[in-house]
Amino acid sequence: MASQVAVIGAGPCGLAQLHAFEEALDEHGDPVHGSMYRYLWSNGPKECLEFADYTFDEHFGQPIPSFPPREVLYDYITGRAKANNVRRFIQFNTAVRWISYDEKAGRFAVTVQTRDDDQTRTEQFDKVIVATGHFSTPNMPSFEGFDQFPGRIMHSHDFRDAQELAGKRLLVIGSSYSAEDIALQTKKYGAQSVTVSYRTQPMGFPWPAGIDEVPLLSKVDGNTAHFADGTTRDVDAIVLCTGYQHSFRFISDELRLRTANVLYPGNLYKGVFWLGQPDLMYLGMQDQYYTFTMFDTQAWYARDYVLGRISLPSREEMAADIARWRGRLAECAGPFDEIDFQASYLVDLHKDVDYPSYDVDLTRAHFKEWEHDKMASITGYRDRSFSSPCNGTIAPVHHTPWWGELDDSMATFLGNQT
Ligand code: NAP
Ligand code: MG
Repeated sequence: MASQVAVIGAGPCGLAQLHAFEEALDEHGDPVHGSMYRYLWSNGPKECLEFADYTFDEHFGQPIPSFPPREVLYDYITGRAKANNVRRFIQFNTAVRWISYDEKAGRFAVTVQTRDDDQTRTEQFDKVIVATGHFSTPNMPSFEGFDQFPGRIMHSHDFRDAQELAGKRLLVIGSSYSAEDIALQTKKYGAQSVTVSYRTQPMGFPWPAGIDEVPLLSKVDGNTAHFADGTTRDVDAIVLCTGYQHSFRFISDELRLRTANVLYPGNLYKGVFWLGQPDLMYLGMQDQYYTFTMFDTQAWYARDYVLGRISLPSREEMAADIARWRGRLAECAGPFDEIDFQASYLVDLHKDVDYPSYDVDLTRAHFKEWEHDKMASITGYRDRSFSSPCNGTIAPVHHTPWWGELDDSMATFLGNQT
């Protein structure tokens, strides 16, 4: 392995990449740390993100329910990282400030700032893998009257503790996963009412009493919110669940991925390799049904390219391949098509790498069932059970219905299972 490879980020994508390399090297060791916020439970079945080479059963030593809280998923992710001792490859407190490609040297120059001693240095790398995620830079629209609003206004990125909003009349703006999750969570922990304002279309779930959907906010006047249909409501706080921007301020212009949150960004061959310079790779930059499984498959693919086990076609062929995928994406008519689309993408990557096999068709069926479950009961879909695509284990039913479960600790989640 003669290449110097920079992996930027040590979250799920970055760890998947280190793990993929480690799998090719075969050694073992210590834990890796990260961070999340309170009361966040998985919003998709865990069976649809199960690591094919490290099952939930293997990690927990017992079958666990399908929708774990974040502490449980964190334990699972870091459990695999620990088993493989990838921590030794991570430089903590090191911020990447700039990456450019040096044509003459045929290498990347990566400038980093080490936070502990505030030193800046530039190193050369043959390959760069960007695994910094794309749900961290808030997309923050403004609305008339925000400057005079007497209550708190925040983006979902800054949302930490639902209890802060107990007793309040909340306005949530957006109609995707964050809006859904934060509306439910704040109501669960005692918000007086939650009004969800959509731009394009309402989510349309059968909301519990105290949550409902209205058209887009047009302005706020004092604490009165005005909506596009002419209705008004008084609110105490506003959470903008308006999504995130792909932001890579540390990458030079010609290497920087610019994309909306879509299932197949342009300029990434196989969804990973930067078209203009494929020695630059991006992991997990797609919008996501599949998460960890997709990151793993991408990481395996990137690894095999770095190790010379996979070679890439000409730039023209790569561009044509991207265009084919994006053409197919343009024909997707809704969530079911999108699930099939992303599953096909995973299968396409998987056929070229030795990532262990699992039942992809089962995960597709799970995702579609999950969509139905959410429409049937938005407060109850997390009480359903799914089967593992890796070993067939059927998840036990959680001891407490999610809507009534205020404790999201791992100890409580794993305890008292039937
Ligand atoms: P997202 O899926 O990209 O959705 C962005 C939302 O913002 C869309 O509904 C969009 O509306 C709306 N929006 C953007 N600009 C707007 C504007 N100017 N005015 C009004 N609405 C605007 O982002 P997200 O919901 O934050 O989800 C990000 C990721 O986090 C997802 O992968 C999700 O699964 C994950 N997540 C997971 C959990 C969990 O596990 N429990 C919880 C929260 C989030 P339009 O439809 O009109 O474009
Ligand atoms: Mg959000």
